Amino acid sequence: MNTFEQIAELERQYLLQTYNRYPVVLARGKGVFLWDIEGKKYLDFVSGIGVNALGHAHPRIVKAIRDQAAKLIHVSNLYYHEYQGPLAEKLCKLSGLNRAFFSNSGTEAIEGSIKLARLAGHRAGGEAKCRLVALEGSYHGRTFGALSLTGQEKHRKGFEPLLEEVTFVKQNDVEGLRAAVSDNTCAIVLEPIFGEGGIYECSVEFLRECRASADQHRAALIFDEIQCGLGRTGTVFAFQSFGVTPDIVAIAKPIAAGIPLGAFIAKEEFATAISPGQHGTTFGGGPLACRIALEFLSIVEEEKLLENVNKVGAYLQEKLKELVSKRNAAIGVRGRGFIQGIQLEIPARPIVDEGLAEGVLFNSTHDTVVRFLPPFLLEEKHVDKGIRVLKKLLGKKRAAAA
Ligand SMILES: *Cc1c(COP(=O)(O)O)cnc(C)c1O
Repeated sequence: MNTFEQIAELERQYLLQTYNRYPVVLARGKGVFLWDIEGKKYLDFVSGIGVNALGHAHPRIVKAIRDQAAKLIHVSNLYYHEYQGPLAEKLCKLSGLNRAFFSNSGTEAIEGSIKLARLAGHRAGGEAKCRLVALEGSYHGRTFGALSLTGQEKHRKGFEPLLEEVTFVKQNDVEGLRAAVSDNTCAIVLEPIFGEGGIYECSVEFLRECRASADQHRAALIFDEIQCGLGRTGTVFAFQSFGVTPDIVAIAKPIAAGIPLGAFIAKEEFATAISPGQHGTTFGGGPLACRIALEFLSIVEEEKLLENVNKVGAYLQEKLKELVSKRNAAIGVRGRGFIQGIQLEIPARPIVDEGLAEGVLFNSTHDTVVRFLPPFLLEEKHVDKGIRVLKKLLGKKRAAAA
C-alpha cells in the first residue's frame, strides 16, 4: 500500500496544482466518522463541504447504489428512465415550484438558471433585458457564467473578461438593491446564506426587497441554495426558513449523497421560456443519481433528520457562543442549523491543521472563519467533542499570541 508521502508526491508531479490539500489520505467512513489510510479516526464537521449530509456509508444509500449499479447507471436524456420524473415531482412538491432540470454540479445548476432567466427576460423585454444583479462576497461556482456572478476578487482575478452585464450590490443593502435593479434586469441571484463567503445571512428585510424588486421589474429571483439548502437550515429549502420564495432555486451538494447531481427548479412562468434543444447535458439526471436522490430525501424524512438539525444545530450554536464569550480569539458566531461559522481574529487554517492532529475535521473559509457543515446525523456528544478540541486549540493560540 502507498504511504501518505508517496500519494502526495504523485499528485505533486501529475496533478494541476489547484488545491492546497490537508496532509491526510482518507480511506473510508461510517456515519459521522472518517478513517485515514493509517487507521486514524476523525470526527467529520465538514461532510465533503456539505455533500455527505447522511454521513458516510449510510446502509440504505449503499444498498440502493449496489442495486441500481447492477441494473442501470446511465442512459442518455434521449430516453426516459424510472427516476427522473419522480425526483422532479418530489422536489416540486417540496419547494412549491413547478419544473426541474438536472445537472451534474452546483455550478451547472447556476448556469442553467441564468440561461433560463435570460430566455425569460428576452421574452418579456427584448434583447436589452439581459442584466444580472448579484451580491458582493458571494460564491456561485467557477465557470464563466457562475464566476461572473461571484462577488469575490480572489476567484475572479486572472480570468477577465467575464460577463459584463452584472451589477454587484452589498448584502443587506436595501437601497443599493433598489438602485441596481431596472427593467433591463433579467435576474437577481443570491445565496440566502453565504457559504464560501464566510457564513453571512441575508436579512429577511433584504430578501423581501429582492422579491419586491424582481416582481416590479419582471426579473427572476434566483436563490443559490447549493450549500445552504436541502436541510441545513432545518427546513427542506433554506428559503422556507426565511419566508421568501424565489422564482428559481439551484441545489446540488447533498442531494444524491455524494453521487454528482445538481438541479434548478423554476416557477412555471419562467420554465415556459425554454424549449427542446435549448439546454441539455450528457450525464445530468441519470438513473443512478436520481434514484439515490430519492433515497436521500426519503431518509431525511423517515429518520426525521431535520428535527435533529434544528435540535443539535441550536446546541452547536449555544456551545459556539459560550466559546466566544470565553476565548479572545473567537469573536462571533453566524448561521443556523448545520451551516454555522465561528469568526476568529486569527487565521483559521492553522486551527484546522491542528484539529486534524486532534482527530477532528473542521473547515476554514474566508480566511478567518471556521465553518461547520456537519452531517445531519451529528449528535450533541459529537458537538461536545468538537468544542473541546476547538477550545484547546484557541486557548493555545491565545497563549502563543500573548
Ligand atoms: C459549492 C457551491 C457552488 C458550486 O457547486 P459545484 O458543485 O462545486 O459546481 C455554487 N454555489 C454555492 C453556494 C456553493 O456552495
